[in-house]
Amino acid sequence: MPLTLDQLNAASLPEALQMLDGLYEHSPWIAERALAQRPFASLAQLKHAMTRVLDEAGVEPQLALIRAHPELAGKAMVSKTLTAESTNEQTKAGLTNCTPEEFAHIQQLNAAYNARFGFPFILAVRGPRGTGLTKAEIIDAFERRVHGHPDFERAECLRNIHRIAEIRLNDKFGFEPVDGQRVWDWQETLAQHSDPGYAEKGQLTVTYLTDAHRACAQRISHWMKDCGFDEIEIDAVGNVVGRYHPATPGAKYLITGSHYDTVRNGGKYDGRLGIFVPMACVQKLHAAGKRLPFGIEVVGFAEEEGQRYKATFLGSGALTGHFDNAWLDQKDADGITMREAMQHAGLCIDDIPKLQRDPAQYLGFIEVHIEQGPVLNELNLPLGIVTSINGSVRYVGEVIGMASHAGTTPMDRRRDAAAAVAELILYAEQRAARDGDSVATVGMLQVPNGSINVVPGSCKFSLDMRAPTNAQRDAVAQDVLAKLNEICERRGLRHTLEETMRAAAAPSAPEWQARWEAAATALGVPLHRMPSGAGHDAMKLHEVMPQAMLFVRGENSGISHNPLESSTADDMDLAVKAFDHVLHQLTTESH
Ligand SMILES: [Zn+2]
Repeated sequence: MPLTLDQLNAASLPEALQMLDGLYEHSPWIAERALAQRPFASLAQLKHAMTRVLDEAGVEPQLALIRAHPELAGKAMVSKTLTAESTNEQTKAGLTNCTPEEFAHIQQLNAAYNARFGFPFILAVRGPRGTGLTKAEIIDAFERRVHGHPDFERAECLRNIHRIAEIRLNDKFGFEPVDGQRVWDWQETLAQHSDPGYAEKGQLTVTYLTDAHRACAQRISHWMKDCGFDEIEIDAVGNVVGRYHPATPGAKYLITGSHYDTVRNGGKYDGRLGIFVPMACVQKLHAAGKRLPFGIEVVGFAEEEGQRYKATFLGSGALTGHFDNAWLDQKDADGITMREAMQHAGLCIDDIPKLQRDPAQYLGFIEVHIEQGPVLNELNLPLGIVTSINGSVRYVGEVIGMASHAGTTPMDRRRDAAAAVAELILYAEQRAARDGDSVATVGMLQVPNGSINVVPGSCKFSLDMRAPTNAQRDAVAQDVLAKLNEICERRGLRHTLEETMRAAAAPSAPEWQARWEAAATALGVPLHRMPSGAGHDAMKLHEVMPQAMLFVRGENSGISHNPLESSTADDMDLAVKAFDHVLHQLTTESH
C-alpha cells in the first residue's frame, strides 16, 4: 500500500521516520530534521524541506552524504552489497548488465573522478523522466562531469542525490507525475524533427519553415486534436493555434503558448514546454467534459529565435500587428527569401494582417518557459515567478579594414578588422558588468574568407545587449556603439551596423503575477521571484495585453540553447498543476 501525506503528517516521529527510510543513502538525519516541519501540504514541500536541511548542514555533512553513496557499477554492485534502492536503480539503468568493455570504462571513470574530487560520482540514473537513463547517457554524463569544477561537482552530486530522493519518495507514495511525463514525452517525440545537417548528427535544429519545422507544426496540431481542442489551425505565418471553447459563446479567452522553433543545436524544452503544459491542461478538461467560463487559446509560435531570418518574435509579433513586411524580402543563407519560403509552405501571406488579435477579446497572456539559467537549479526550487522580462537590443555589423599580407604588413600599418572587433568585445564585457544586471554578448564573429597568413580585412559580428529597464539597456547600447565609432576612427576602419531587434522590458502584470504566486503557494512550492534575462514571446504580447510568466527549473545548471538542456517530469508536472490552478482561480474569480 502506498503511503499518503496524511499518514505521514499524523504519524509519531519514529513511525514517520520509518516511512521515509532509505530516501537519503545511510542518512536518516535529513528526513528526521525535515519532519520537524510537518504538516506538509504536498510532496513538493517535503522535498524542498529536505534540500534545505542539507543546505544548512554545511560542507562536511554534505561530503559525508556523497561519500555514503556507492560508485556507479562499482565494487558494491559486483559484491551485491548495495542498498535495495541502489540495486533497483542501477539495474533499471542496465548497469548490472554491462559488457566487460563498458564495465572497464566505467571503472576508469570512477577512479579518475574519485582521484580528482575525493568523492564518488553521483548521478540520478533514473533520469529526468524517472524511467531510467541509457548506459550511453550515463557514460556521456560521466565523461563530461569528470572535467567539472570541484565546487560545481559537489553541488551537482547533491542535486543528483535530491533527485534520487525525489524518485524514491514518489515510489513510496505511489506517485507518478503522469501529466509531467506526458509533457516530457511530447517534447521528446517532437525533438525527432530536426533540420538537415543537424539531424544526421543527432542535433536538434528547427528553423522557420524548414521541412522539420513544418513537421513539428503538423505534430502539434494533431496532438491538439487528440487533446480535444475545438478549433485547430496553422495560421498565415505558421503558428499552430488551438482553441478550447468557453462554456458560453462570446466569452473572453485566456491566451497562452510559446515557440516551437529552436536555435541551432538547441534543447528540447525551450519554448515547447510552454505549448505542451497548457495542452495537458486542456486534455484533462476535455476528458472530464469540463468547460470554463472563458476559452483557452494555446499558440505554438512558429518563430521566436530569429535563426533562419532576422525576424525574431515573428510568430507572436503577427498576433500584435507587428509583422514587418520588409522581412518578406530577407534571404536565408541559401538565398531563399522569406516570401518564397512562406509560399512554398502554402501560407497565405495576404492573410497575415488578419492575425492581429483584439485585446478586448482576451483576459491576458501567460507563458510557461524553462528558466534557461542556473538560479532555480542552484536553489533547489522547481518553479520561479517572473517579475519582468529584460529589455534587449540586437545588432549585426561588419568592420571593414584592409586585407594584407600577414608577413609583410608592419604592425603600425595594419587595418585589422578583427582586432577592432576584439577590442569592442572587451569593452562591451566591461561596460555591461559595470551595471551588475546588464549583459552584453558578441555571439557571432566571423572573418569572411579569412586565411592564416592574411590580416583580416573584414570582420562580421553580432551584438546583443539586455537590461531590466529600457533606459538602462539604451545607456549600455549607446556607450558600446560610441566605442565602436571611436575604435574604427582610431584604427582607420569603417563599419556597418544594422539593428535587428529591439524589445522593450516587460514587467509582469501584478494581478497575473499574483495568480502564478497563488498557484505555487497552493502547491507547497516556496515562492521565488526573478526577472527573466532571456526574451520571450510574452514580451510581444505585453505590448497589447497583461502578461506574466512562470519559469520551470532546468537541470545541468539550467543550461539552454544547448543539447544538455533538461528538466524533470516532476517539475513539468508541477507546471501543469500550477497552470491548472491559475485556470481554477480565473474560474472562481468570474463567478
Ligand atoms: Zn524560448
